[in-house]
Amino acid sequence: MDPNEKEVCGVSLSDFVVRMEEFHGFRSPGLLLGGIMIDRALGELGPTPYLNVVTETVVCLPDAVQLLTPCTIGNGFLRVLDWGKFALTGYDRMELTGVRVWIMQDRLPEYPLIHRWFERTQRSEPKPDFEDVANEIIERGSKIIECKGVRLRRPLKEVSSIPTGICSSCGESYALRRGSVCPACGGDSYYD
Ligand SMILES: [Zn+2]
Repeated sequence: MDPNEKEVCGVSLSDFVVRMEEFHGFRSPGLLLGGIMIDRALGELGPTPYLNVVTETVVCLPDAVQLLTPCTIGNGFLRVLDWGKFALTGYDRMELTGVRVWIMQDRLPEYPLIHRWFERTQRSEPKPDFEDVANEIIERGSKIIECKGVRLRRPLKEVSSIPTGICSSCGESYALRRGSVCPACGGDSYYD
């Protein structure tokens, strides 16, 4: 391993790229930038025994979090908000102190490849090569992100157990807070 190679969250960038390809399916500038954002958040937070993460977009960032931290969707320590904002917050769920990291939109024009990839405005043009965008993200990604300490209003992980019951229509168990029948029988089904 190249001793000068940069790391994100203690993982060398070359290992991170291999792991993202395995996990995410392909090499993604968004995961790379996400990795740098998580690295910044965790660096600012310091030791965090009860680490939780919230992402404010459903794309890329949740996979970066799951690759680089113990927080996953399945264990509940990662919460994913569908806000379409490329931002995340790492926090301690006991202390409710966190660090939010986001993209400084007004700085993007200084970084043409990242800008082109991020804005996706020139769709008729070929997408920039992963290698080219990746290099710009690795070299300069830290300059387009900003971070700030935040206080969580509440922990976002479900801590109490969720009451369940049997749906009178389909007979399957579901979370009772969803109503008198399960969401599928209530009209939200995604299948026929
Ligand atoms: Zn049902």
